[in-house]
Amino acid sequence: MSYKISIIEGDGIGHEIVPAALKVLEHTGLSFEWDFVLAGEKAVEEYQTPVPDSTIESILSNKLALKGPLTNLVARGWPSPNVMLRKNLGLFAAVKRARYFEGVGSPFKNADLVVVREAKEDTYAGAEQQVGSDAAIAIKFITRENSLNVANFTFDLARRLGRKKVSITHKANVLKLTDGLFLKSAQEAAKNYPDIECDSLMIDHMAFKLVNDPLDCDVILAPNVYGDILADLIAGICGSLGLGFGGNFGPEAAVFEPVHGTAPTIAGQGIANPIGEILSGAMLLSYIGEEQAAKTIENAVASVLKKGEFLTGDLGGTASTNDITNAIIREMK
Ligand code: ATP
Repeated sequence: MSYKISIIEGDGIGHEIVPAALKVLEHTGLSFEWDFVLAGEKAVEEYQTPVPDSTIESILSNKLALKGPLTNLVARGWPSPNVMLRKNLGLFAAVKRARYFEGVGSPFKNADLVVVREAKEDTYAGAEQQVGSDAAIAIKFITRENSLNVANFTFDLARRLGRKKVSITHKANVLKLTDGLFLKSAQEAAKNYPDIECDSLMIDHMAFKLVNDPLDCDVILAPNVYGDILADLIAGICGSLGLGFGGNFGPEAAVFEPVHGTAPTIAGQGIANPIGEILSGAMLLSYIGEEQAAKTIENAVASVLKKGEFLTGDLGGTASTNDITNAIIREMK
């Protein structure tokens, strides 16, 4: 059986880390058909839109995609390609994971953190308005239905991953209506999962707790904006932004991608860390039931990091993207 997967290389370091991830996936011995599609800067050049219909059609037909980071084109007058993808594909939950690997410079040994970010609403709906010449507003949009959906998704995920606790994070003391609704809906969903412990923490308290005692954190459920910030934070806690990985989920498709962005300052130099992209590929394999192949990749990554011979700059080494990718492939047994 061959898996057909839509591939978006994306922008910046995407051109280096996505080919690296595909090389690793191909080395699992599974059979893949890559369906290369465009989004981001290249799509604007070719199709005059950040996400052409052909890309959406490919992902809806294959139900699976692996993507690199995309440049946010809002400053150039285009909608954000990531927001467009999430909207057009109905991706309502973004899972971001970061775990500690031996050999990586993090003081938090054994940290293994999951953030589930609500991905459709909040101020990311992009409803902004100028008020006179010197003021502007953004609308924070939250619905009960979507909050319940993402909360149910989070508790199901926690169960599937064998996790013990979901922490709902919010700022409901100030944003009583919006964050209040998100919190209330998530607490309502929690009642159907008595086997999973559930607590709630204000976002400022959560940020402090994450850097003070991340081992006491497990799965974190957050509205869109807080989730975006916490995703980078958990990657940093585990040693590098280059190590965070994840996927976006909806009823019709799943799109996997690393936590970090396009890193334009190091793009084109062949020095980006491909591990976030590679582990996103492993997460995709696990999602389609290829647990063994996913484990093989994760173990190979762990082994390369532990040996410390081929580390990219963000991990304190001097290896190139190719060096670390080849080292991972050599460890895949
Ligand atoms: P964007 O605008 O797309 O978010 P950015 O550079 O502002 O790009 P990130 O791409 O998330 O934000 O990265 C911030 C910094 O972290 C980069 O400049 C780079 O130094 C480092 N970084 C991120 N990802 C990687 C990676 N995969 N390998 C090495 N360094 C990385």
